Formats: sequence, structure tokens, C-alpha cells
Amino acid sequence: MKYVFVTGGVVSSLGKGLTAASLGTLLERRGLRVVLQKFDPYLNVDPGTMSPYQHGEVYVLEDGSETDLDLGHYERFTNSPLTKQNTLTAGRIYEEVLRKERRGDYLGATVQVIPHVTDEIKTRIKAASQHADGDVVITEIGGTTGDIEGLPFLEALRQFALEVGADNALFIHVTLLPYIKAAGELKSKPTQQSVAKLREIGIQPHILVCRSEHPVEDDVRRKLSLFCNVPLEAVIEEQDVAYTIYEVPLTLQRQHMDDLVCKHLKLDLPPADMHAWQVMVNHIIAPRHNVNIAVVGKYIEHQDAYKSIYEALTHAGADNDTGVSLHKIDAEDIEAEGAGKFLAGMDGVLIPGGFGSRGVEGKIQAARFARENNIPYFGLCLGMQIAAIEFARNVCGLPDAHSTEFNPDTPHPVITLLDEQQQVTAKGGTMRLGSYRCKLTADSHALAAYGEDIISERHRHRYEFNGAYRALMVEKGLKIAGLFVEKNLVEIIENPRNPWFVACQFHPEFQSKPDQPHPLFREFIKAALASHGRK
Ligand code: GLN
Repeated sequence: MKYVFVTGGVVSSLGKGLTAASLGTLLERRGLRVVLQKFDPYLNVDPGTMSPYQHGEVYVLEDGSETDLDLGHYERFTNSPLTKQNTLTAGRIYEEVLRKERRGDYLGATVQVIPHVTDEIKTRIKAASQHADGDVVITEIGGTTGDIEGLPFLEALRQFALEVGADNALFIHVTLLPYIKAAGELKSKPTQQSVAKLREIGIQPHILVCRSEHPVEDDVRRKLSLFCNVPLEAVIEEQDVAYTIYEVPLTLQRQHMDDLVCKHLKLDLPPADMHAWQVMVNHIIAPRHNVNIAVVGKYIEHQDAYKSIYEALTHAGADNDTGVSLHKIDAEDIEAEGAGKFLAGMDGVLIPGGFGSRGVEGKIQAARFARENNIPYFGLCLGMQIAAIEFARNVCGLPDAHSTEFNPDTPHPVITLLDEQQQVTAKGGTMRLGSYRCKLTADSHALAAYGEDIISERHRHRYEFNGAYRALMVEKGLKIAGLFVEKNLVEIIENPRNPWFVACQFHPEFQSKPDQPHPLFREFIKAALASHGRK
């Protein structure tokens, strides 16, 4: 078993996750079974309770784990199986250590960061590799070198590397070279200092991945090599990609990063065949058509809050040879100025998931505008609940219809809590989470898209379509296109009067990959393209 550790220096948000995932892409195509894993040094037990403003979207795995969005990159870039074994926070580690202490497992010992916390971390690295039966584990450490909360993780990695031996562990440090405009120079000092911090702990990185907005000239490279004690060829440049993040594996391959990794880990493998990947990237970069898609949400100004949705739209676009021009619209702006101003001329409207009542009325207006103007509509989770509320209010004649999440006293709770959720008060890990099977209805857009009638999709919500209103809505023309049969829960609704109006209670965006676009996203973009052609 081989281990690669990815740390970050200077600042956060450098794209460590993308770098780790891209290396995974290359190693898989050299024939290895890759396992990716993320450690986050914060004290939340998992990111499920965090606002999207803090860390972007919460990514959900098949087994219902609520994770950091980097796991989304891992799933999109590789075939690494991902379960709760592949995601770990300091909070989870401490929870486990304290549980063991209370149980008396430590037999009278003083419980300390070293060895108890570090041992727990090391156990998790081993567990991920054993669980997934991989050849190489790539572990990404969140945060920035020098953070106090990251220290136990780095110490654990140092010990781990010593235990498995030099040929079996490799450290990659992803760092920033800031550009000073006045001097016209890329600066290497912050990187030198961040590597010095790592070496203080006893970790010598083998590869430096340098994020920069400008090309890294030879003199800067030499300086980095000398001061950071890294061979010249192991100073890898990762400039901001011009078009798409899917170029990153190609950029790294051009600089032989995967060769370096294989050489260090004593893996003798043929080169990665990236031909199909390159073709996919070309489709993203130079599509024949274009559509305008409005995403009407609440966290719209936050780049990462709807990450998987934006990626899934890109995948679907590439598959349709279509560029997707995103129009990110704040639902509150629609409340203030009306839907027409923002949505007229759009080829498709997408309403993503969300929590809390801010912006909800704007989203309802957006769904109405799409329905009344025959614009393809795609509702995801809250976007499905919104479509149901809008239909109840404006088609079924129930003007007060609402979700009990937003109005607990509504006379028409078309979206409501199941009995099993009524008593739940704790927020962490208590929603309907993870994969559920859904049976699709004949003659639905959903069935046409998937091409099979039993599908499995990931959930993350507390509220549900209220079955008491099903008959009325169907009578008024709504189609129930998908059901969770065991509990008779409505999972997909469609409006057959519209060219393509599909809204699902689950989150399809989590299962889209660049080379396997999600069927619903693919058909949504196809419908948007047709709508564009009709204009
Ligand atoms: N707030 C809604 C619920 O809890 C929708 C959640 C979501 O969109 N992920 O059911």
C-alpha cells in the first residue's frame, strides 16, 4: 500500500482538493486503484451543520455522510469508493477519543494529543485503505500549514510516514506564489516559510505544487528548489486554468507529476492514457451551441455553495456540445423586482436546494414564471418543494399553500414533516440522508432520461411532499414521476403541459461526472437547447 499526503501552504482555497483529485485521475489511468480521503482540522463532527457561506456546499455520499465539497471533486475525477471512512474531522477524532476515555479503554493513562489523538488519526488512514482495497491512498489535509488545529494531523502523518517507510509515503505541498504587481514578480518567500514550518514538524515535502496567476520562471523555480529542498523537476506549476478545472490533470501530466509520484513510490507503470479526457475537455472549451441557464438561489454570490450543480451543468453541456452560460440570480432580487426582469429570455431555470425562508417567495415566483412561460424547469430538493407549493397556490387554487418549514401554521401544508421527523430536535446528521431507491412512472421525462425504472439517488432534506395533496394535484395536471415505494413518498414531480418541467426531492448533482453526465441534467440542457432554438 502506498500513501500520498497533500498539505496546503500560505492561504486556504488553493484547490488542494482539485490537485489531489487530478493526481487520482492520472494514477487511475496508470492502472492503480486509488482511494481518496479528506481530513478537516475543524471541530465540527461533520460539515453537515455548517452554513454554505462557511465552506461551500455540503456534499453527500451514498451512505449518507455529509462531507466537505472536496469529496465531490474526488467522485467526479476518480472512481474511488467514498464512504464515511473517507472523511474525517478533528471533531470526529476527539469525539471518538473521549468516548474511549469514558469507556475506560485507556486503562488509567493520561489521555493526550500524542499518542492518543495521533493514533486515532493513523488508524483512520489505515482503515480507509483496507476498507476500499486500494493500491494508493491520497489523503488531503484541510486548512493551512501553521494552523494550530492542524498540528495533530501533521504530527500523525510524520509518524505514519516513518512507520510505512520512505518508499511508501510521499508528501505534496500545494502552495501560493503571490504576484506583486508593482515589482512584476512572483514571490517565493511565503512558500519557503510554509515549507520551513512543515520541516519544523519533521515533514519534508517531495513535490511542490505552485498555484500562481502567472508563469513560474526558471529563477523562481530554482529558488524554490534550493530553499525548500525539493528537486527542480518537482517544482510543479499550477497556473489558474483558462477554461475549466478538468484541464488540471492534463497540466500536471505535462509536467510529469505522476511520473515523479510513481518513481518515488517505486511503482513501475505505463503512462496514463488521457486521450478521452482531452476530448471531453475540448467539448467544454469549444462547444457548438450555447444556452442561458438561470440558477435562482440564496447563496448565489458564494462561488462554492452550488458547486456540484455548476459542475453537473458543465458535464451536461459538454455532452450536448453546448456551452452553459450561467445566470446566477438572487431570489431576493426577484422578490424586489419581479421574475420577468431576470428570467425573460432564459432557456432554462434551475432552483437548487436550500434551507430557511429567506428568498423562498422569489423562488416561487421564478417557478411560476417558468411554468407560465414554458421555460424548461429543473427543481432540486427545495426546488422541487417550491414547484409543488407554486402549483398548489396558482393551479390548484390554494393561495395559502406552503411548506411547514416556512409557515408552520399554513392551512395547506403541501410540504411537511413525516411523523418520524416531528420529534427530532438535534440538527447534526438527522435529515433523510444518503441513497434511496426511486421507482419511475411510465411516460415521464424522468423515465425517458434514465432509461430504467428503478434508480438510486442521494437525499439531504427533512421535509417531504405531503401525500394528502397528491390526488388534488394530479387531478389538476401534475404528474407524479417518481416514488419511494416503501414509504409511498413522492420523489419526482413533472408538469406535462411544459416542454420539460422536472423537479426531484433528491440531489442528482452528486452523481454527475464529466464523462458520465447525469441523465436529468443532460435532458434539461437538451430541453433548454430546444427552447433556445424555438426563439
Ligand atoms: N429545506 C428543505 C428540507 O429540509 C430542503 C432541503 C434541501 O434543499 N436540501 O426539506
